[in-house]
Amino acid sequence: MIRFNEPPFLGTEVEYIADAIRQKHIAGGGKYFQLCCGFLEQSFGADFVRLTTSGTDALEAAAILCDIKPGDEVIMPSFTFVSTANAFVLRGARIVFVDVRPDTMNLDETKIEAAITEKTKVIVPVHYAGVSCEMDEICAVAKRHGLFVVEDAAQGIFAEYKGKSLGTIGDIGCYSFHETKNISMGEGGALLVNNPALRDRADVICNKGTNRADFARGLVDKYSWTDVGSSYLPGDLNAAYLYAQLLDHEKIEKKRKDIWNRYHNAMIPLAEEGLLETMCVPDHCEHNAHTYYIKLASAGQREELMKYLSQRQIVSAFHFVPLHSAPAGGVYGRFCGEDVYTTKESDRLLRLPLHYNLTDTDADAVIGAVRAFFGR
Ligand SMILES: *Cc1c(COP(=O)(O)O)cnc(C)c1O
Repeated sequence: MIRFNEPPFLGTEVEYIADAIRQKHIAGGGKYFQLCCGFLEQSFGADFVRLTTSGTDALEAAAILCDIKPGDEVIMPSFTFVSTANAFVLRGARIVFVDVRPDTMNLDETKIEAAITEKTKVIVPVHYAGVSCEMDEICAVAKRHGLFVVEDAAQGIFAEYKGKSLGTIGDIGCYSFHETKNISMGEGGALLVNNPALRDRADVICNKGTNRADFARGLVDKYSWTDVGSSYLPGDLNAAYLYAQLLDHEKIEKKRKDIWNRYHNAMIPLAEEGLLETMCVPDHCEHNAHTYYIKLASAGQREELMKYLSQRQIVSAFHFVPLHSAPAGGVYGRFCGEDVYTTKESDRLLRLPLHYNLTDTDADAVIGAVRAFFGR
C-alpha cells in the first residue's frame, strides 16, 4: 500500500533523545528547546523564535499577543485548518472569512479591504501547501488600517516569498511540526514574533503567564504570575527529535522536491490535454514541496479518482472542508463577499501521496494510476 503520509525518520533522532535524557532536564525550555530556537532564528534571520507544543498553540499564543477581546474580528480564508479559526475564537473573536484565489488557494489579497470594519484587528494569511500568500499587498492593507498580520505558516517551513522566509514577514508567524508536516516532532510548533513591540509578553504567555524565562536567565531572583498565559513549551525529548530533523532538513527537502517535480512533470501533459489542473507556484514564491495536489473537473470526478487509486492501494486525500460550511462555522464566523472559489475549488482538489519514505517506484505507480484513470 502507498500511504498518503509517513513521518520522516532519519535515525539520528535517537541519539539526540538519549542525550536529552542524560541532561536531566526533560521539561520545556531545556537544552534542545534552546538549540531549536537558536537554529530557527539563525536559519530565517528571525529575532525571536520559541518552540511551542503545537502549531495550534503557536496560533493561540499569537491571538493572546494581539490582545484579542470578545467581539474583535479576524480575517482569514475559509479554506484552512480549524485551528486557524479556533485560536482566535477562544479569545472571543468573530471570524470573517474571505474568498481564496483559485490559482494558489490562498487568501485573495484584493478582497481583504472590503471585509475590514472598525472591529477588525488581525489578518491571518495561510500559506497553503507551502506556497506564499501575496504578502506585500496583505501587509500594505494591514498597515493602512492599523491591523496585525499573523502568518499561519504551519505548512510553510523553509519556503520563501521574494527571498524572505515564511513566518518572518508579518507581525507574528506560526509553524507546525505535527507529524504530517515536512519537519516534525510528533506534536509541536513554533512562534515567531517579528514585531518587537509584541516580544516582551511572548515568553510570559508561553511560560504559564509567569516571568520564569527571565528567572532562568538570572534577570529576576524569583518568578511570579505577571500576565495571562498557558503551558506552551514542549518537553525536551520532543525538541531533541526535532533538532535532529532540523539539522538534516536539506535531505528531507530534497527528497520531497524530487517527488514533487516528478509528479509535476508527469501531470503537465495531462493538464495540457485539459484533463486536470496542476498546482501553481508563482515565480516569486519558493515552495517547500509540502503538498502536491491536482484539481479535477468536479467533486464527483475527484471521488471517482480517489476510489480508483484506493483500489490500486494508493491513498490520496482531499483537503479542508471550508470552515464557513462546517457546523461551528456559522456560529463563530461569517463569509464576507461572495464565495466564488472557496467551495468550488476545494471540492475538486486532490492531494497525492508525498512523504520522505516514498520511493521513485511508488511515485511512478501513482502517476501510472492517474494516467490510467484518464485512459492515457
Ligand atoms: C497543521 C496545521 C495547523 C495546526 O498545527 P498543529 O501542529 O497540528 O496544531 C494549523 N494551520 C494549518 C494551515 C495547518 O496545516
